[in-house]
Amino acid sequence: MNNRSKWTLRLYDREGQLYLTWHLTSPFIQAIFFVGAALLALLLYTAQAYWVRYDAMSKELVQLHQEKQQQTERLVQLSRQISTMQQEHDRLDQLLQESEGNLANVVQQIDQEQHDIQNQADMLKTQVWQEVADYKARVRAEMFYFKTGFTQLDQLTEQVRGMVGLPAIPLTSGNPENLVNNNQPVNAVGPTDLKSEGTSVGTNPDQMNGFESIAQMNNLVKPKLAELQKLRDQVAQHLARVEPQVRKDPVTLEKELRMQKDAPKVWPVQGEITSYFGYRSLDGQQDFHTGLDIGAKYGTVIVATKMGTVIFAGWKAGYGWAVELDHGNGYTTLYSHMLRYVAQVGEVLKEGDPLGLVGSSGHSTGPHVHYEVRYNQTPLDPLQFLVQSTP
Ligand SMILES: [Zn+2]
Repeated sequence: MNNRSKWTLRLYDREGQLYLTWHLTSPFIQAIFFVGAALLALLLYTAQAYWVRYDAMSKELVQLHQEKQQQTERLVQLSRQISTMQQEHDRLDQLLQESEGNLANVVQQIDQEQHDIQNQADMLKTQVWQEVADYKARVRAEMFYFKTGFTQLDQLTEQVRGMVGLPAIPLTSGNPENLVNNNQPVNAVGPTDLKSEGTSVGTNPDQMNGFESIAQMNNLVKPKLAELQKLRDQVAQHLARVEPQVRKDPVTLEKELRMQKDAPKVWPVQGEITSYFGYRSLDGQQDFHTGLDIGAKYGTVIVATKMGTVIFAGWKAGYGWAVELDHGNGYTTLYSHMLRYVAQVGEVLKEGDPLGLVGSSGHSTGPHVHYEVRYNQTPLDPLQFLVQSTP
């Protein structure tokens, strides 16, 4: 037994009393014990390793748990946020619905306003066409006034020309009668005619009558104005010959004009003026020439310058053979230095009737007619009455 190791196992209870003693003498048993101890040690080690791992996992679990809690909290927060957003969304949705309702109202209002605008435009159109129709009617009325005025103007012109002694002139090419050729009332243009009116403007002459007439009127007015301007110049020329104080007095002027009207106006003979009426210097002496000398060939026919009665036909001292006519209204004319006379006292001659032939009888230096015009015995310048200043 000495060669063998002797293992003794002792077990004690709680009071320290040995209650078992086991001697392990058999090597087999010892081996089993040894292996068992080794296994136990291995088991313990393994358990320890597992424990360490478990511990780490536990810590990890705790951490995960904490994270889970955090996530949960965040989830709750998110949930709350979502809820809030949902509410916001609902609110916005409601607003949107309200807005849609408002939008519908606005659209309806716009429709209404468009309708109103259309109505107003229609009313305006109607008014405008009514005004156009009124305007046309006014233009027609103006045409009548214009026509009347034109006729009166023509009459007045004739009167003035007659007074001044200018010959009558033919009517201007534009006759105001053409202006207003249709005297029917203007048809009112109602709104029902708007469409047809709109398309036919400028094509239907009847509808454009007023405007065309204005153009015609303008065309007429220009020559008429020119005519009147010419007449004004002629009257001014005539007035320039009249005494200034006479020009200042309308009554005297009218008298003067009537005098002009009654005066003889044609040339007794065609020829050049060899001596004018008025003061002239003769042989260094001032001399008043009471008539107009018109040179012409011997034997040229001398005519009456206005209708009148022969009150003298014969020899007159200084004048030679002479004829005197009484035209009434205070006018007399004298034709002298004649070769011979062909009129008899008491005879009534018309304007242009022959009364003698050109000569150089009496105090004369060559063949000419000494022509005198007297108004209430006062000699006047015959030239002022002659229609043309030269024959
Ligand atoms: Zn003379």
